[in-house]
Amino acid sequence: MPNNFEIAVFSGDGIGPEITEPTIKILRHMSERAASYDLAFTEAPAGAAHYAKTGESLPETSMKIARSADAILLSAMGLPDVRYDDGTEISPQIDLRKALTLFAGIRPVTVRAGQTTPLKMPPGKEIDFVLVRESTEGLFHTQGCGEVTKDEARETLLITREISEKLFDFTFALAKQRQAQGRGKGRVTCVDKANVFRAFAFFREMFDAEAAKHPELIADHAYVDATALWMVQKPWDFDVLVTENMFGDILSDLGAGLMGGLGLAPSADIGMDHAVFQPCHGSAPDIAGQGVANPFAMILSAAMMLDWLGVKHENSELRSDGQRLREAVEEIISRGEVLTCDLGGKASTKDAAAAVHSLLVLEPA
Ligand code: ATP
Repeated sequence: MPNNFEIAVFSGDGIGPEITEPTIKILRHMSERAASYDLAFTEAPAGAAHYAKTGESLPETSMKIARSADAILLSAMGLPDVRYDDGTEISPQIDLRKALTLFAGIRPVTVRAGQTTPLKMPPGKEIDFVLVRESTEGLFHTQGCGEVTKDEARETLLITREISEKLFDFTFALAKQRQAQGRGKGRVTCVDKANVFRAFAFFREMFDAEAAKHPELIADHAYVDATALWMVQKPWDFDVLVTENMFGDILSDLGAGLMGGLGLAPSADIGMDHAVFQPCHGSAPDIAGQGVANPFAMILSAAMMLDWLGVKHENSELRSDGQRLREAVEEIISRGEVLTCDLGGKASTKDAAAAVHSLLVLEPA
């Protein structure tokens, strides 16, 4: 098993470089102290500012760095004033998703004791579920090339057997992993609209076929509208949810809302050979350059990266470091002493990241 891992880093636009720098610092610290792995980082230029400077948003050289890396860490890309000639936004992260066939978008939603959430949490309850969003097809299939005439507009929703079977295989494996970690009940819920659309009945049929291979797990279904309601009324009941691209896009922002905002929501886009880890939020140009952006979603994404590398390469130290990093962020959030302004605090990006870093230094590995 290899123990040297190359990480491609897309620092990106807006607050991207501000949250990337302290995250890499923490990862270097963990790597230097690790006995069984070593991380090396290569910056890959891309994004809206890069496009404005060079006319290229995702240069081939950066694509090459991404392809040859063991994992990709990406902050945020895109700026409202920098657009392609047809008016669409610069979003190389979506190009990466397509080019590397990253079909499984992982959006964990956690609310621990003491964490601020807009929900009224019953005593003793915590939220800990994962939304798996298919990320290469669905209603995003015709993204950027939908038909628009004077009187009509048309986009196409695509569900394929090839991607759906991989998606469900991945999702059930994830539920098993979570159960083994003591984090889940071993329950997978297919979120669809199979009562109205044939495409979703097809989606559900393939989900059921995969579920039949895992009798030890609980598999059930929920309509997307009911899921939105239950995410507000009883989100602590969920374990792993799997859904189509557009439904997942919407529900993952609802999940971020439950967690107290985008600044706390990490994500991963995973395929068979590659994976990108990035916060759910965008480049937040309104606060860029002020040093006040919340780095926690980025750090939590880095923790997911360590965990994924650990599972893929059967390295238990990487997995436990991923868990340590996640728990350090959760601890800082629960203490509520060093929070950025989006969470009601006054801390700078550097101070918030340093609080996590100090906790890791203090705690034995
Ligand atoms: P995109 O379309 O790329 O997702 P967006 O404009 O919809 O971008 P964001 O860039 O995520 O959304 O910003 C939405 C709001 O959330 C902004 O007010 C921004 O300042 C705030 N925000 C986003 N990320 C953070 C963060 N890490 N820390 C603090 N505030 C943030």
